[in-house]
Order: sequence, then C-alpha cells, then structure tokens
Amino acid sequence: MQFELSEEQRLIQETARRIAKERVAPRAAEMDVSEEYPHDIYEAFRDVGLLGLTIPEAYGGSGSGVLSLALAVEEVAKYCCASGLVLLLSALPTQPIVFGGSEDQKNQWLEQVATGAAKAAFCLTEPNSGSDASALETRAVRDGDDYVLNGEKMYISGGTVADFVVAFAKTDSSSGPKGISGFIVPTDSPGFSVAGQDRKMGVRGVPTANLVFKDVRVGPDLLIGGEEGKGFNQAMLTLNSLRPVVGARGVGLAEGAMTYALNFARDREAFGKPIADLQAIQFMFADMAIQIEAARLLVYQGAWLVDQGKYRRENASMLSIAKAFATEMAVKVASDALQVLGAQGYMMDHPLERHYRDARQLTIVEGTSQIQRVVIARALMERELVYP
Ligand SMILES: Cc1cc2nc3c(=O)[nH]c(=O)nc-3n(C[C@H](O)[C@H](O)[C@H](O)COP(=O)(O)OP(=O)(O)OC[C@H]3O[C@@H](n4cnc5c(N)ncnc54)[C@H](O)[C@@H]3O)c2cc1C
Repeated sequence: MQFELSEEQRLIQETARRIAKERVAPRAAEMDVSEEYPHDIYEAFRDVGLLGLTIPEAYGGSGSGVLSLALAVEEVAKYCCASGLVLLLSALPTQPIVFGGSEDQKNQWLEQVATGAAKAAFCLTEPNSGSDASALETRAVRDGDDYVLNGEKMYISGGTVADFVVAFAKTDSSSGPKGISGFIVPTDSPGFSVAGQDRKMGVRGVPTANLVFKDVRVGPDLLIGGEEGKGFNQAMLTLNSLRPVVGARGVGLAEGAMTYALNFARDREAFGKPIADLQAIQFMFADMAIQIEAARLLVYQGAWLVDQGKYRRENASMLSIAKAFATEMAVKVASDALQVLGAQGYMMDHPLERHYRDARQLTIVEGTSQIQRVVIARALMERELVYP
C-alpha cells in the first residue's frame, strides 16, 4: 500500500490549487447570486488542461484518470462547489462514450470536450424517473436508418450551455433496462429545446435545465456504441466511476468551510479571549478534521479503484461508500463550520451559508444517499462486500 501521489497527480493538484485561488475564489459569491454559468472559469480550466483528465490521450485528453480529476475537483470545491461541478461535467457526459462509444464516436466527440471546443451534459433524469432510472419514458423510435427522440429530461446540470448532450432513451419499451440506449444529441438539432432553468437552493453557478426532445432526429452514427440496449449499462458505469468525484466535491467543500471557520475563530473574541481558545470549539474542529480525513481516504481509494478498472457492479459498493460518506460529511462539516461563526455564519457576508446550501446538493445527485445504501446493502447481502 502506498499513499504517495505520482508526479503528474501532484502537478495537477498544484495547478488546480493555483487556479482555484486566483480565478475561482474571487468569483464564487457572485456566481451564486447571478446564477450564471461561469464561462471565464471554464476557460481558465481549459487553458491549463483540466478538461480532459478522464479522456484518454488517444482522443485528445490527458488520460490522467479519475483520481486526478478528484484531486482537481477537491481543490476547486474548497472555494466553490459549483466550479467543481464545471470540472466534473467534463467527465459525466463523456464517460458513456469512453466506456461504450465506437472508435469513430470517440474520435469525433471526446476531443471537443477535452479541448474546450464543446460543452456537454448528461441526461438521465426525467419528470417520472430519478432513482428508478430504468423507468425513464423518453422514446427513440427507429425511422429508416435514423432514430426519432421524444421526451423530457429534468435537472440537467449544464443543460443551458451544452453543445451536445448524452441522452438515454427507450428503444424497446418491453425490455426494461435492456431496452435503454444512449444517444449523442447535438443541441442545435431541430426539436431540441431548453424549456426552463431551475431556481435552486445551491450550486447556483451551474444552471440545471429542463430539456425537451420533440421529434429530434439523429442518425445511427449517434447511437452510442452502435448497438441498442446498451445505454443503461453505460449510464450506470458512468455514475459508478464518478461517485468518488462527487465525494471529492464534498471533501473540498468541507476543507474550505473548516479553514474559513478556523481563521474566524482565531480572531473572534468572547468572554475575553478568542473563541478558538475554547475547548468546545476546538473539539468541533477536531471532529471536522477526523471526518474530512476519513472521507478523503475513501474518496482517493474509490478514485484509485476506478483507475484500476474496478467500477463495475462487483466494486460498486466501495464507490458508493465513498460518495455517501464524503457527501454526508460535507453537510455536517458545513453546518458545524457555520455554527462557529454564530450569527455571522448565517449571513451572506461569509461563504459558509453558501457552502451549506451547496453541500445539500451532493447527497442527492448521482444517486441519493439512500440509493448508495441500497448498493452497499446489496453487496453485503450478496457477499460481494465481505470481511473474511
Ligand atoms: C442540482 C441538481 C443537479 C442534477 N443534475 C443532473 C444531471 O446533470 N443529469 C441527470 O440526469 N440528473 C441530474 N439530477 C437529478 C438527480 O440525479 C436526481 O435528483 C436523483 O437521482 C434523485 O432522483 P429524484 O430527485 O427523482 O428522487 P426520487 O427518485 O423520486 O427519490 C425521492 C426520495 O426517495 C428515495 N428513494 C427512491 N428510491 C429509493 C429506494 N429504492 N430505496 C430507498 N429510498 C429511495 C430517494 O433517496 C429520495 O430521498 C440533478 C439533481 C439536482 C438536484
């Protein structure tokens, strides 16, 4: 067992840390208020090569891997969880193509995202299906060689700015998950529209959108992998592989919140001394550090497993453990850090109320905490997760 990062991973971490301090931190509060996608931050990531970390070198990325992405996301989320999502969105819609796409599709679509030529979004959730993703209702009906898509997708991160989306639709409504296929849909396709942008509690710098597909016609070259019925598996592998990265958003957020509160506690006086001298406050910080360090190890281990190719069903429980623990930890640490500031923590003059609102998103997206427990419990019951 070794805990050292590689030279490349350290470099990525340092680069992300620098961009986070110089470009992300000064913009974080403003993005939260304006609710506008931060194109400047996206371009800063692009300019230092952070958009292609999970995209193989052969297709224009750096192929550094999911642990590298987790490291970068952690640094950015210390100041702005939404900007961490901007980075994550370079992987979420591209992993289905990396895992299941044809050679031509990889060549055509992946490099665009890695180089910042195109933004993409991942469309699974619908009005009547979230956790139960296989109940999705969007249809893709064969018409000659083409497919015609009809349906609606909800809460799609980056949906308002995407140049193409990866959308999952039923090509065979009689065969459950096996009837689901993945499609690449350019957003300038006739019949595709952004029906609305959500008003939401947190992570407001990355708009989520309601997307409508009305008789959207795509050629057979846009069916991911060229084979029907593979979409559910592509979507699940994608979600499995990125669960540690959602966890990394939580770890970074918690580190940022704790550090901010610690600096505050050193200055704020009560009963004639800094509140940082009070043991009750010190123990709150000790608990935060324990939680952060435990979560960070789970997240790094999960990301490392993915980079070893271990992101299929038999390894899913470790990825779910990392996601559930790190995101719930982020909610708790953000809440405790806010508490340290007293009334000031509740005010928008400080970033802690934003961290707290942002943290609440993390236990819902890419599989709720309850769904992670379903995965973990199943692994225990089926003896995939054993302690011999
Ligand atoms: C800000 C934001 C951004 C998002 N971005 C995207 C995106 O980019 N792309 C995308 O496709 N989706 C996106 N989503 C959707 C997200 O993935 C879903 O919200 C999530 O999967 C949960 O689905 P749901 O909201 O429909 O809840 P439901 O599935 O309706 O669940 C409601 C409640 O029931 C619980 N529950 C459901 N099933 C079970 C079960 N079997 N056992 C125990 N409890 C259960 C859930 O945990 C939850 O508490 C986003 C959501 C948000 C809030």
